[in-house]
Amino acid sequence: MIETKDLEPIVKSNQQRPPAVLPGERLERVTAWGGASDSVSYVYRPTTAAQIADLFALARQMGRTVGLRGGGNSYGDAAMNGENILLDLRRMNRILDWNPENGRISVEPGVTLSRLWQYVLEDGWWPPVVTGTMVTTIGGCAGMNVHGKNAWQQGPIGAHILEFDLMMPSGETIACGPEENGDIFFAAIGGFGMLGCFTRITLQMKRIYSGLLDVYTETQPNLDGMFAYFEAHLETSDYIVGWMDAFAKGKGLGRGDVHRANYLPPDADPHPAQTMRLDHQHLSDMMFGVLPKSIIWLLMRPFMNNWGTWLINNGKLWAGKLAGPTYVRQPHAAFHFLLDYVPNWKRAYGPGGLIQYQPFVPKEAAKETFAHLLHLGQERGLPNYLTVLKRHRPDAFLMTHGLDGYSMAMDFRITNRNREKVAQLAREMDEIVLAAGGRFYLAKDSTLRPETAVAYLGQETLDQFRLLKRRCDPDHIMETNLWRRVFGSD
Ligand SMILES: Cc1cc2nc3c(=O)[nH]c(=O)nc-3n(C[C@H](O)[C@H](O)[C@H](O)COP(=O)(O)OP(=O)(O)OC[C@H]3O[C@@H](n4cnc5c(N)ncnc54)[C@H](O)[C@@H]3O)c2cc1C
Repeated sequence: MIETKDLEPIVKSNQQRPPAVLPGERLERVTAWGGASDSVSYVYRPTTAAQIADLFALARQMGRTVGLRGGGNSYGDAAMNGENILLDLRRMNRILDWNPENGRISVEPGVTLSRLWQYVLEDGWWPPVVTGTMVTTIGGCAGMNVHGKNAWQQGPIGAHILEFDLMMPSGETIACGPEENGDIFFAAIGGFGMLGCFTRITLQMKRIYSGLLDVYTETQPNLDGMFAYFEAHLETSDYIVGWMDAFAKGKGLGRGDVHRANYLPPDADPHPAQTMRLDHQHLSDMMFGVLPKSIIWLLMRPFMNNWGTWLINNGKLWAGKLAGPTYVRQPHAAFHFLLDYVPNWKRAYGPGGLIQYQPFVPKEAAKETFAHLLHLGQERGLPNYLTVLKRHRPDAFLMTHGLDGYSMAMDFRITNRNREKVAQLAREMDEIVLAAGGRFYLAKDSTLRPETAVAYLGQETLDQFRLLKRRCDPDHIMETNLWRRVFGSD
């Protein structure tokens, strides 16, 4: 049990006065989503904008900093603020306005993607960008400017945000849109909660004509096959994602399954009102009709090592090969939220948890770069257990991870024995990604160093962001563990 009096401030920038003691009963241990790091914070769960303003005032009075947390699904330390105040915004979860005629919706930041799609679906709309899990909040998605399996088509979620209200640490709220306070609009989206707190976000939903998607799956023998498939289907697909076997070597390097999906055009679904009903989208609680999904992570646990995941990856690949190319009509929720099929699957990784490393690389260099990264992981005895390939496009947001190229997300199991080895591998991979003109994604990051951030973002961009931060947060109230780790010092 950690006592309040034991907590020393680790924040340099907000130390005009020594920190005062906050109520000990607010102390909670908060973990990174991947479980590989944690810290203790004073956690508050405001329900109104006025309460957020009061908490900013409290932080100022107490000489503490404030970090923001949505669903806490960032893999690393982006939504953590050790030894300081953390606002968990999930109770700010009201739908403020919905217009089923034009698909515009205004929400509080704690509304989850799950609530959002369930709210709009029966009116014939779907969120234009969704993440691989539906438990993320809209505030957290805007804070990281998340992307979906349609990133090259639709860009990140920020491309569909029409306007937002941002509360700054002074308690003042400003309205921002591409035209109004545009510099803050393009920096706060993807600004990982460092400029202020979104208290209201207005988004444009996408019109759909069915609760189903046409989904095609095909196994590819290697990276060449993967990339060729993506490029051949970019123009005619709404979504594409590749799942790769990071254990495969030689000619099979980068082999795996590709899934692509298309919306159904008007009139293609004979029963759209039925397929857009929520019970049609429901993800079953059972696997194969008999096995409760809630225990599957336990069954997965013995396989969460190099041999076990080698076996799983091979099994999945051979099953795909035997089945051949497949086509199904699948509910939206089933296609998008595959990672929600097995509740608590991350627990299978054991007590050390996992981290994800997701570099973004220009299309000209992506294949060679990813081959290099896969090789390196194998050479170091650290093949990653889950590998996901996506296509992206550039965007206008200041701290963007987007570019005209590909990303490859890699999940690494962390143990006491391999922790330092994985960190060293990440440093080596950083150099390879930087040399290829690549970028990184803070939502997934646990290992980035300040010099790497400067290298991919550019000093000018960082200076611009710091300038805006000074304007919105002149007293340096807003911080997180991520901020201190990667950007904390000038
Ligand atoms: C299983 C899984 C699958 C995922 N799939 C994808 C994917 O497909 N694509 C993708 O892009 N990402 C993906 N992610 C990452 C995830 O979508 C992002 O980390 C997202 O930001 C998480 O949302 P959250 O509500 O949990 O936010 P948190 O992780 O709690 O916070 C994210 C950031 O937003 C800030 N923030 C939170 N609320 C506010 C607010 N009201 N105002 C201002 N800033 C705020 C926080 O300070 C933090 O910096 C995935 C994560 C998991 C665990």
